[in-house]
Amino acid sequence: MTGRSRRATRRVLLHHPSNPVPVGAGAPVSVQSMTITRTADHEATLQQVYALAGAGADIVRCTCNDDAAAEGLARVVPRSPVPIVADIHFQHRLALAALEAGVSCLRLNPGNIRKPHHIKTVAAEAGDRGVPIRIGVNAGSLDPDIEARFGITPEALVASAERELAYFAEVGFDDVKISVKASDVRLMVDSYRLLADTVDAPLHLGVTEAGPPPGGLIKATAGIASLLLDGIGDTIRYSLTADPVEEARAGRQLLEALGLRDRSGTDLIACPSCGRAEIDVIKVAGDAMAAFAERQLPVQVAVMGCVVNGPGEARSADLGIAAGRRRGHLFIRGQVVRVVPEDEMVAALVEEAEKLVEQGVDARLAAADAGAAAEAEADRAALLADQGDDANASEARVELIRQHTRAG
Ligand code: SF4
Repeated sequence: MTGRSRRATRRVLLHHPSNPVPVGAGAPVSVQSMTITRTADHEATLQQVYALAGAGADIVRCTCNDDAAAEGLARVVPRSPVPIVADIHFQHRLALAALEAGVSCLRLNPGNIRKPHHIKTVAAEAGDRGVPIRIGVNAGSLDPDIEARFGITPEALVASAERELAYFAEVGFDDVKISVKASDVRLMVDSYRLLADTVDAPLHLGVTEAGPPPGGLIKATAGIASLLLDGIGDTIRYSLTADPVEEARAGRQLLEALGLRDRSGTDLIACPSCGRAEIDVIKVAGDAMAAFAERQLPVQVAVMGCVVNGPGEARSADLGIAAGRRRGHLFIRGQVVRVVPEDEMVAALVEEAEKLVEQGVDARLAAADAGAAAEAEADRAALLADQGDDANASEARVELIRQHTRAG
């Protein structure tokens, strides 16, 4: 993995007939998201569960906020492609109903269900059924006595989790994962670090109420990635004020970017453009992103604005395209394999990506157009001759500044 080795934890298993998901103890870090439909509307909820699973969610949470929602869960769970977690606040009897509905996990907020005998009843019932529970502590809903004692601090969040663990221990239940979420990124990170030093349960990471993108994405990524890079965290959720499909997609992309999960879709990289660019890089990269969006090709693709530096700078990409003299140079691992007209660049990129996935790098390099590399080199040399080394005209500007300075 990227960064330090992963923190050792116990493992919990979210049961599912065809798709069980282990969490902790070296299992792949999983992605979670939550439906925003009324769970009682089981068809709409199931449709959203499928959309979330398609976008990369390994586990989906649904609210169980009333009896109708519990009945909805009983209809969603057997048809769901991934394990379903029931989100429970305030009423412990809805946790029991969700267990009856067959959910794979419960999420209990210790700040909202406080009576010890209620907590123990739920834990005992979950234990009998082999269903794990997430202790979902939230900085915004702490037990008043804990908040009075510690304030809203990492110590308070961890104390809340420990109190719940102690109730569970009284009925011999320890099949838990824990979250200590806060909307403040530093509080969230510090709380998880303290928790990681205190317990050996797997941890569910999230920055709660992160807000709409792009700010929400930045906050969630800052918190979650900091911890993952320290080896902390076994399952993650982006809490965005957005279509939850975006949450699932972001979670998946983060794990792939950190090398914690294999690539499932296309990773598009592009140069930032500069004075050498031979095309509108932003537009072509956007067109490429749209063209690859539905194809789920597990490759890294580069869109580079010029042939002078493009293929070399993006040689670690599986394939890419660089623009020069109204043509596109298609390259695989930095080697030019074809030269195409500029307006066919994106189509050529997609076609080559499909063949690359099907046939592999060696076969596609062997199938390179004879003469492509020489043609590309000629374009590159011509551009360098036209533009020289100072395509961004920096040196000319510096000279002008110096002239002004001297004149002044
Ligand atoms: S030098 Fe070429 S590849 Fe690099 S940023 Fe400029 S246009 Fe893009």
